[in-house]
Amino acid sequence: MTRSQYTFENPVTRYPQVEAPEKHVPEPGTDTDLEPHADHGEETYRGSARLLNRKALITGGDSGIGAAVAIAFAREGADVAITYLPDEEDDAQHVRTQIETAGRKAVLLPGDLTDRDFCTQLVNKAVRELGGLDILVNNAGKQLFCESIEDLPDEQFEQTLNTNVLAMFRITKAAIPYLEPGSTIINTTSVQAYQPSPLLLDYATTKAAINAFTKALASQLASRGIRVNAVAPGPIWTPLQPSGGQPHEKLAHFGTQTPIGRSGQPAELAPAYVFLASAESSYVLGATIAVTGGMPTP
Ligand code: NAD
Ligand code: MG
Repeated sequence: MTRSQYTFENPVTRYPQVEAPEKHVPEPGTDTDLEPHADHGEETYRGSARLLNRKALITGGDSGIGAAVAIAFAREGADVAITYLPDEEDDAQHVRTQIETAGRKAVLLPGDLTDRDFCTQLVNKAVRELGGLDILVNNAGKQLFCESIEDLPDEQFEQTLNTNVLAMFRITKAAIPYLEPGSTIINTTSVQAYQPSPLLLDYATTKAAINAFTKALASQLASRGIRVNAVAPGPIWTPLQPSGGQPHEKLAHFGTQTPIGRSGQPAELAPAYVFLASAESSYVLGATIAVTGGMPTP
């Protein structure tokens, strides 16, 4: 039998600890340049029509967690639109091929989420090309480490807030008029919302904001039949980390501080998003699924 997300394995050894090479790459990192490449479930994710004919929009769906979610959604029967930065075209084309090989429609939306107008345009374009919208995954994110508040430029704080929080707000606001009862919104938060690293002052702040936004919006939209939830990843091997997300000395043992003892792979995140997007989670609202390798969350 071929290996899939349903295969029983020892989770400790399911993936080897990543050996990060001494390689500095600029933002945004790409999977094309990532050594070793991340696992988005290309060889393993098995779908079973849990999202048949749903229409999904995933920001940052070109790489990392977003790419794994895009592939899983397509194999569960959804048509998928992804946003990404123009520099990430190669990664986006890889995901497009995966979606189309699953027999579903792929819509590619390159652009910068810190541009206010792009946030609304991308929603309209996704709706037009998909023929509607049932699932919104706010997943794009910016993470740049900085040792000290004195060295943290005002512009970086603004850019991180803009990418992680304001874009989520603008895209969600633009999407809501299209969402029918049964639709779902899933936001990618982080264990950083609960255990903020001193190196990630701006980033951790945005992740705590995403948590509050998720819970408040879930209450607001509950009676309209639109469910809002979040997924909180722990340390996951994606292009975000070696492109300024972590200092190099930390990257060498990235994820080993978790109880499970290794970093996670994007493929290990996808089932949580599929559950929250599917009708199976009809009574789950304002919740956060922690996929943290055992790092405690409240
Ligand atoms: P990733 O680099 O693969 O994905 C992040 C994506 O964000 C990029 O692909 C890019 O397309 C998009 N993005 C960033 N800035 C943008 C901008 N200005 N305009 C348009 N798009 C932009 O990395 P990932 O780790 O898969 O990140 C996905 C989400 O997971 C992020 O929200 C991140 O904060 C969160 N997260 C990651 C980890 C981890 O350890 N990797 C842990 C917790 C949370
Ligand atoms: Mg990317």
